[in-house]
Amino acid sequence: MSDVTPLRQQYLDIKREYPNAILFFRLGDFYETFDGDAEIAARELDLVLTSRPVSKSSRIPMAGVPHHAVDTYIARLIERGYHVAVCEQVTEPNGRGIVEREVTRVVTPGTIIEPELLSEKHANYLLAIMPIGDPASGRWERAGIAYADISTGEFAATELTGENAAMLTLEELARLQPREVLMPQSWAERGVTLPPGMSLTPYADWRFERSSAETTLTQHFRTRTLSGFGLDEFPAGICAAGAALQYLRDTQKNNLAQIITIRPYTTSGFMVLDPFTRRNLELTETIRNRKTQGSLLGILDRTVTAMGARLLRTWMSQPLLDLKRLNARLDAVESLASTEIARAEIREALRGVTDLERLTNRLLIGKAGPRDLIALRHSLDAVPTLQGLIAPLPPLGALARMLDACEDIRELIDRAISDTPPATLNNSGIIRAGYSAELDDIMDKTKHAREWIAELEPQERARTGIGSLKVGYNKVFGYYLEVSHANTDRVPSDYIRKQTLVNAERYITPELKEYETLVLNAEEQILAVERELFETLCKEIAAHSKRLLETARGVAHLDSFASLADVAVREAYCRPTLTDDDLLIIEDGRHPVVEQLLDGGFRYVPNDTHFDSMGRIHIITGPNMAGKSTYIRQVAIITLMAQIGSFVPAGQATIGLVDRIFARIGAQDEIHAGQSTFMVEMVETARLLSGSTRRSLLILDEVGRGTSTYDGMAIARSVVEYIHNHPGLGCRTLFATHYHELTELPNVLPKARNYNVAVAEEGDEIVFLHKVVPGGADRSYGVHVAQLAGLPRPVVERARALLRDLETAGSTFEPQAVKQKRHNPAQLKMFDEAPNPALEALKAIKVDELSPLEALTKLYELKRLAGE
Ligand code: ADP
Ligand code: MG
Repeated sequence: MSDVTPLRQQYLDIKREYPNAILFFRLGDFYETFDGDAEIAARELDLVLTSRPVSKSSRIPMAGVPHHAVDTYIARLIERGYHVAVCEQVTEPNGRGIVEREVTRVVTPGTIIEPELLSEKHANYLLAIMPIGDPASGRWERAGIAYADISTGEFAATELTGENAAMLTLEELARLQPREVLMPQSWAERGVTLPPGMSLTPYADWRFERSSAETTLTQHFRTRTLSGFGLDEFPAGICAAGAALQYLRDTQKNNLAQIITIRPYTTSGFMVLDPFTRRNLELTETIRNRKTQGSLLGILDRTVTAMGARLLRTWMSQPLLDLKRLNARLDAVESLASTEIARAEIREALRGVTDLERLTNRLLIGKAGPRDLIALRHSLDAVPTLQGLIAPLPPLGALARMLDACEDIRELIDRAISDTPPATLNNSGIIRAGYSAELDDIMDKTKHAREWIAELEPQERARTGIGSLKVGYNKVFGYYLEVSHANTDRVPSDYIRKQTLVNAERYITPELKEYETLVLNAEEQILAVERELFETLCKEIAAHSKRLLETARGVAHLDSFASLADVAVREAYCRPTLTDDDLLIIEDGRHPVVEQLLDGGFRYVPNDTHFDSMGRIHIITGPNMAGKSTYIRQVAIITLMAQIGSFVPAGQATIGLVDRIFARIGAQDEIHAGQSTFMVEMVETARLLSGSTRRSLLILDEVGRGTSTYDGMAIARSVVEYIHNHPGLGCRTLFATHYHELTELPNVLPKARNYNVAVAEEGDEIVFLHKVVPGGADRSYGVHVAQLAGLPRPVVERARALLRDLETAGSTFEPQAVKQKRHNPAQLKMFDEAPNPALEALKAIKVDELSPLEALTKLYELKRLAGE
């Protein structure tokens, strides 16, 4: 080891502390990575992999990025789930030994603060989970949850209890969509699968221990106990919060001034939406390409500020259960919907408001730049305008009180900061003249020198008679006088030649160098003084962070309300009536996304929905492509929209608050990689049956379809029966199915109703009416759909013939009573009785392989088996 260079030794010492991060090691103008890190960086960032000698005999791999572009490279690594430790030079080179280096921050997916790395429309959460239970068996009894967004200072904790704590945790993950999830090492090592887009960080178990967690929290908040935060009910929540905070401190190197409190919360105030439901309803992204466009949020989000966009997304992910709060939101939306002009003006004024929330946090942690203050000033300028515009709208009164124009801060910025300051503190010109006596004094003293230099050119031209003489400046030689070769004979004797160019000579004079020293020294001084003034100013403003953050919140609310109002007006939505009972009545409801996607000539057909105390379960039948899936989702989405405080796409809607929506899709509509689709489907269904209450809304789309017809039908039927008969359930249920045999169910289940999506038959063709009407569909029209799908004509014809044969066959052994209802009893009976031999034989028939003659023979055989 002794022949290792000191630099290499320094690197190894630092790297040892960050084994799980890629270490960006500052070397002059580059950040270099070495060894394994270099190989990863070269691969992930398309860098050239070079090598560097570390001793007389060995070289190691190396890959570097230029310092000015480092953020984009870090962003790419974070995007791919890596952590990056940034190691800076913390002393100036002094000729003796190597400079000191230190890791100044660790960037991980959940701890980003750089605006360039953040998406402005998402919160960026780090979430810590403390499972309580048995790591060996993986059984959870409880779970402490804490999450923080250091770009906004949000920090909250809760605890989820009960045997389904793990499920509840998944629901929280789905609601919050954290970028990074922290778990105790011992749990993480047993294998944890997180939803896509979240990266798992194992963290030392002892950091999650109660005593360690409490110490971290009390030290940070400078309190003696935690009792003032109301966290007592959440012991595991405290463990998670302590670990999260400690992890943030590790990565931010203690710079966490923005986290000023921790908020206990419960999930009971929110509608429960499990990950499958969020996905199936395409709330914030589409299933197909995971884009916001085409999702519900894509329709509702017309916000114009980053804060508004984040708030609306939060609302979408956690619909409320509180009538009063919802009505207050609806009042606000209604008042903005009713004034076209004011709304337009409000939105226009909002456009000028920067991301006050994140900006205030940069101020708090000392990371704000000069232009941030200008942006702050401009944003605050908009506040009085906004206040004036919302004053006549009483429902926005509470919101108006959040807005504070911060006159004092605006005035301070005006006085202190020049109109067009440089982007960073490395350049002068930030502070306005007249703000600081010290700065003005330095400027004054060097004023003469600067003026002297400014006048030098005309003066020397006159003295020498050289019209082309120029005064210039460069970094190496400082100020110089430049004379072309043609005129060098006229140069006065006090000029000292410094440099020869192709066409000219450059000179200096002793006097010029004296003034130059004055000016350059002053420049350094000015930079230092400006920097100090700026930092003091930022601290002064940061002291008002509460007011700024409250204003940011007000702006976010106003923006979200205006956005909802704008969609409501443009898309002709109506204000829903919310109630505390469990009815659900929608007139002329539409699917907000599908109605936008219909193109050229197709109009969306509105549909009614009516759940009362007698009709709890709606069975929706109809051919493929009729609109079953769209219809049942539309009901779920309208309910959800109402419970975020939005208007809804309907003529009229009365909605008894729903505590949870379950949306399940039969397996064939989706491809789950690697698992048995039927298994997935059944696991989801089991969860649904254990998790719902009387107040839930169930949307079941072709459940049971992931297996053979009879199994599927049997399961579908028993699921419906269970929901219907279980005393705690009887929840509002929409069951779309192409098993038209299920239309028999309302005969035996008094609270079940049949509906079907109507089609009209025109000859052999069918026309989709997309209209939901009472009664069950009597056939599946599969052959028609095959025709629509473009199967060759002979195939369709043949299928139609076979179908007719089979239908006739069915009718021959149909008992009279059922026949009148035009159902196929052979298939219904299987639920009730032992298998019918005729039916078994029918099942065994391979229709595709039958000739017409064989079909006829089979028919005779079937008749015989049926006992005729
Ligand atoms: P199903 O589930 O019955 O097979 P879908 O709900 O998937 O049918 O609907 C098929 C297509 O029909 C949709 O993609 C949409 O274009 C159209 N559609 C559905 N409902 C309506 C409606 N109410 N009005 C107009 N078009 C509709
Ligand atoms: Mg469907």
